[in-house]
This record gives sequence, structure tokens and C-alpha cells, in this order.
Amino acid sequence: MNTHSSRTIGVLALQGDFQAHAEMLRECGVEAIEVRSADDLQRIDGLVIPGGESTTMSRLCDRYGLWEPLRARVEGGMGVFGTCAGLIMLAKNISGGTRNFAQSTLGALDIDVARNAYGKQLDSFEANLDLKGMPQDASKAVPLHAVFIRAPRIDRVGEGVEVLARHNDAPVVVRHQKCMGAAFHPEIAGDTRLHQLWLDSLQSDAPSTAESASESAPSKNRATRALQSTLSAPAGAVAEARH
Ligand code: GLN
Repeated sequence: MNTHSSRTIGVLALQGDFQAHAEMLRECGVEAIEVRSADDLQRIDGLVIPGGESTTMSRLCDRYGLWEPLRARVEGGMGVFGTCAGLIMLAKNISGGTRNFAQSTLGALDIDVARNAYGKQLDSFEANLDLKGMPQDASKAVPLHAVFIRAPRIDRVGEGVEVLARHNDAPVVVRHQKCMGAAFHPEIAGDTRLHQLWLDSLQSDAPSTAESASESAPSKNRATRALQSTLSAPAGAVAEARH
């Protein structure tokens, strides 16, 4: 059962794994639409920014004039969930030398991230995470399976930003009110709990707990398909972005 069905959630669909996120959102019971324009942004109650390649997404936002309408919606209180490259798009700062060109970000989460800090594509890894707020009931205590692909490392977490999960002590899921970020690809492992947790936070101004995010256990493994397709940008988009 879900309580989200009247909401329309956008997935930024410039590049990256946006289709898989839209599928996850539909599994959670919301309407999911692809967002590519300022007009699309007006139709949604929340936005997912997928993993992919943040430099490409950033350039495409420059090119299509999306930063201003995106910032306006976020400043107006719209919730955003950024994963991997999407987390980078939400960060306040990109650490040290890991910023490419004048790569803009939304700055909606007071965190610093280092791009590609866990290594290259071949250093991709999977891990089981304990998500804060996960129910204590042992029968439901299934860890969250997380797939990290050229993941960003969260180097600093500002005041008021909650850390919901860590991997080897580093924060990998963070949240501030309706804005949440994950350093990995939650759309890959077939587990909707993180999406549900974020959708719950849209219900009210106060951050929610994970109670209602506990109902669905991981169902299927989409890792292989996603590992191969996630990072391959639509050829046209990349070619355009490079100009
Ligand atoms: N390394 C990519 C970036 O910097 C993110 C990788 C991903 O989203 N899987 O944008």
C-alpha cells in the first residue's frame, strides 16, 4: 500500500540512468515523468537526479538554461533526490581538484563531494548498508544493497544534514529535510526502500523516518544491465555537451 499516488515526480532526463529511476518511482505508486525543460519542472512535486555523468548533466543544464528554474523550484521547497552524479549535482562544493571546468551544482545539500574518489569504472563495488530508520524487526532487517560506480565520496557534511548510512565510516546517504542524496545507484538493485523513504519526506515539512520505507524487500537484481548502461550517455547528448 502507498500514500503517494497523487504525486507527480520528475526524473531529470538529460543523461544517465533516468529510465530505471522512473520505473522505481512507478513501483512506489507515483506518477513519474521525464524532465528536460523549465515547463516540465513546473509540473512536478519532486525531482530525482539520476547517476550518470555530472559534468555532462551540468553542461546540458547550462545549454538548456535549466539552472535558474531548477534553483527556483528547490528554493521554493521542492524535494530533490540525487544519486551518484545526481548527488554531485546537489552538493554545495566539489572538493579539491575534482571539479571539471566551471562545473555548477545546485548547492541544495550542504556537503562537499570528491568526484570519482573510489576509483575508476573497474573499481566499482557493491556493499550492504544499514540505513538509519530501518525497522528493528529481524524479519525485515534486510540491509540495503548498494552499487557504487565511479562514486563520489562525501568529504564534509554541514550542520543539519543527517547521515542515514555509512560505508567504511564515510557517509553515503545524507538528507536535509526534503533533499536527499546517495553516493551509489539505488535504482539498480531492485529495492525501492530508499525511493520510498525520500517520497515519505515529501509528505510534510519535517523529515520523516524510514518506517514506511520498510515494506518492500529487494526483489530482483538489475545490476548487470545497469552497470553496462548507466554511464553511457545518449550519444547526441554527450556530443552536444562537449561543444
Ligand atoms: N563519476 C561520475 C561523475 O563525476 C558519477 C558516476 C555515476 O553517477 N555513476 O559525475
